[in-house]
Amino acid sequence: MTGPMIKHEVVIVGAGFGGLTTAAELKHAGVQDFLILESGPDVGGVWRENTYPGCSCDVPAHLYSFAFDPYRDAHVRYPGQQAILSYMREVADRNGLRPHLRCDTAVVAADYSDTDRTWTLITTTGELIHTDAVVWALGQLHRPMIPQLRGAQTFSGRAFHSARWDHTADLSGQIAVVGTGSSAAQMIPELARVAAGVTVYQRSPSWVLPKPAASFGPSSRWALTHVPGLHTLYRAGIYHCADTVLAPIMRAGWSARPAELLARAHLRRQVRDRKLRAELTPDYRIGEKRILLDNGYFPALTQPHVELVTDRIERLTPDGIRTVDGTERRADVIVWATGFRAREFFAGVQITGRGGVDLHDQWRRQGRPSAFYGLAVRGFPNLYMIAGPSSFTPSNSNPTVKKHQARYIVRCLALSARSGAPMEVTERAMASYLDRLDRALAQTVWCDGVATAWWKRADGTITNAWPGTVREFEHAIADSDPDESFASVASTARAPAIGNR
Ligand code: NAP
Repeated sequence: MTGPMIKHEVVIVGAGFGGLTTAAELKHAGVQDFLILESGPDVGGVWRENTYPGCSCDVPAHLYSFAFDPYRDAHVRYPGQQAILSYMREVADRNGLRPHLRCDTAVVAADYSDTDRTWTLITTTGELIHTDAVVWALGQLHRPMIPQLRGAQTFSGRAFHSARWDHTADLSGQIAVVGTGSSAAQMIPELARVAAGVTVYQRSPSWVLPKPAASFGPSSRWALTHVPGLHTLYRAGIYHCADTVLAPIMRAGWSARPAELLARAHLRRQVRDRKLRAELTPDYRIGEKRILLDNGYFPALTQPHVELVTDRIERLTPDGIRTVDGTERRADVIVWATGFRAREFFAGVQITGRGGVDLHDQWRRQGRPSAFYGLAVRGFPNLYMIAGPSSFTPSNSNPTVKKHQARYIVRCLALSARSGAPMEVTERAMASYLDRLDRALAQTVWCDGVATAWWKRADGTITNAWPGTVREFEHAIADSDPDESFASVASTARAPAIGNR
């Protein structure tokens, strides 16, 4: 493809929470020449893609928001998908990020040139975009996973994934929902409101804790509106609570037992039927897979037109789903609430680093995907990522983890500018990081747990989740000064001008 050469100091790939955070941090550091490439039509990431009925966030908005432009509403504790998406759009506008944004542009490959010491990104249309540094902010939960089931082609109704909702589908008939994770739990009460019948196919139950009300009560509302600093104090309180109460559950710590008792009590209170309750009681330790916070899922399952099926699915038929016991249940619509290909980092993207090394090959040889605090990989100079391997927190604020990663990346870019060369994590820093990571992972309930989780491979390798608290992430990353953990690849290379102005 010919045309003017496009060249930037930094290219960010993805305009979800990670991409917008990185863009804001770059702007804050004085970088003007950066581009955000987004494969979709707008900012928003998963909050643009997930439009299923009932989609909302089970993390309070005060935690689930940008530090540089926080969501602070005296009424709303848990905003819905539309509100979160609107907020992200407003953040992009308010912070002058739109002029940097190019939508409908998907990157399929990235090549590092050992000669020029720059990156060339290749888009689906064959366009080449050159950059001194690239930050991938693809997220972890954006490639739908639909199980390959026998007879799938024969099903005559509508079938779609939870993150690809078909808004033209008629939901008044018989709906089958496959999966019982966070997405399923949020949509099932809404579907039960409009459908003649809902069949829920459960492979394994989730531990569910009661969720505080979606809106603040009158006194909290008054206080949040009138008491100066209360929003900040409240945010600090729930952040601290998530780290000190929820995070230890993942390590079978002090709060695991009380949390399990609370989850059992929640189930007992909401489901009177003993058989149904038994089917909804997990046979694994709390924390092994993502804990749900929900008040509407269990009551929805107790309705007469909602059925929970625990037999495995054998195949799809023209009219519905047949389970291994030979029962066929009719379905007009099948919703795959079956999660995402989260463990396949950079699936569909070819990344070639120093010496022509392919990132996928490198990770295959190493036996797992790994990145220094989920943000940098040895052999890939000035290539960074947000929410890379082992940096998803199942217990606290992922936007906060992303903020720490983005700030660290900006420090690496500044170091690169000072040294006049692309930077790369040193072998020693990476080895020491992996050693600490593995020791922390070994203490989690995921490690020897029996349950599947989207952050764990079938062979037991934990690929996505951060095993500690967010404060531990913050402190660990702060202790790993880029000056010590990163080294320049070649002193003659060009580098982003960040920090030189
Ligand atoms: P998920 O947690 O991965 O759940 C997928 C569900 O599908 C599981 O119940 C799984 O069963 C089931 N499943 C997968 N393959 C199946 C098969 N072949 N047959 C039958 N069942 C099958 O996916 P998700 O619910 O979309 O949530 C993913 C993540 O997105 C969450 O953990 C969370 O991090 C995020 N999320 C967050 C919110 C929020 O409010 N913050 C809302 C939605 C999603 P098994 O458990 O047996 O594997």
